[in-house]
Amino acid sequence: MTGASVSALLRQTPGVPVDLSCLDPAATPGFSGGKKRAGREVAALGDPLAELHTRLQAASTAGARDRLLLIVQGTDCSGKDGVGRHVVSLLEPMWSRSVAFVKPTEEELRHNFLWRIRKELPVAGQVAVFNRSHYEDVLVVRVHNLASPEIWQGRYEEINRFERRLAAEGVRLVKLMLHISPEVQLKRLTARLSDPTKLWKYNPGDFDERSFWPRYVDAYEVALSRCTGPDAPWYIVPADHKWYRDWAVAHLLLEALQAIGPEYPPADFDLAAERARLDGEGAVSAPPTRHAVRRA
Ligand code: AMP
Ligand code: MG
Repeated sequence: MTGASVSALLRQTPGVPVDLSCLDPAATPGFSGGKKRAGREVAALGDPLAELHTRLQAASTAGARDRLLLIVQGTDCSGKDGVGRHVVSLLEPMWSRSVAFVKPTEEELRHNFLWRIRKELPVAGQVAVFNRSHYEDVLVVRVHNLASPEIWQGRYEEINRFERRLAAEGVRLVKLMLHISPEVQLKRLTARLSDPTKLWKYNPGDFDERSFWPRYVDAYEVALSRCTGPDAPWYIVPADHKWYRDWAVAHLLLEALQAIGPEYPPADFDLAAERARLDGEGAVSAPPTRHAVRRA
């Protein structure tokens, strides 16, 4: 990679309306190699990602409130699960959590749309990954009129207030829109039907949803334009090439953790005294050496 950070290349500028038709889903901003090199570079980010994540957790034990929330949005077959499998898996599993938001239950529908989201937020030191999110409440809900316009229209500002509050509480938000072309989606849906290990992912409704593609594009453009801010940026990730998608998301994660800059906390106990105690214990209870045993 050369020049600008991946974050700078893919981040949407607040105040500039998003036009997805101008963004090539097969582009590879910031990367000039192919599949193999991308794979090698993602693998090489494993150690730095895990290290930064460990620092994030360590810092939280000393009171730091920082945490990271990765929101992954995109149509069916855009690669939301793939990002989890190939990139999020590089983080420390103990301090990561992944949540998939599907059609709300009856109980969830009785509450405000953010109710189920709040329950899954990361605690300090954690990275949480949302596979779909509160954005569905201005995407699928808007496209299919699952609520009246008065209801979903008020949600954009409610989301902005919610995300501003999260940022103020130490949540670093990274919102990803995985951008694929309808042609690639068709190829992937077709591949699902010819792979017995992928049939479970196929839902006949997914094909019907394709006829709503232009309405989803509109709904995404409004959400991406209205709900982006300095503390809650959207990144549009060209995702026709799975290898670029993973490469870009790995860099976005790394850059977000680097921006937090977590540090290992110093000891909150008397280090010298503890060392002396352990040294003393070693002298008393060390197992006898072979030499000592022979002499005895
Ligand atoms: P999948 O991601 O393929 O498991 O599908 C999950 C489904 O849940 C998608 O069809 C989403 O549109 C749907 N879904 C997620 N959140 C909501 C929501 N808030 N309201 C209605 N449908 C939703
Ligand atoms: Mg699906």
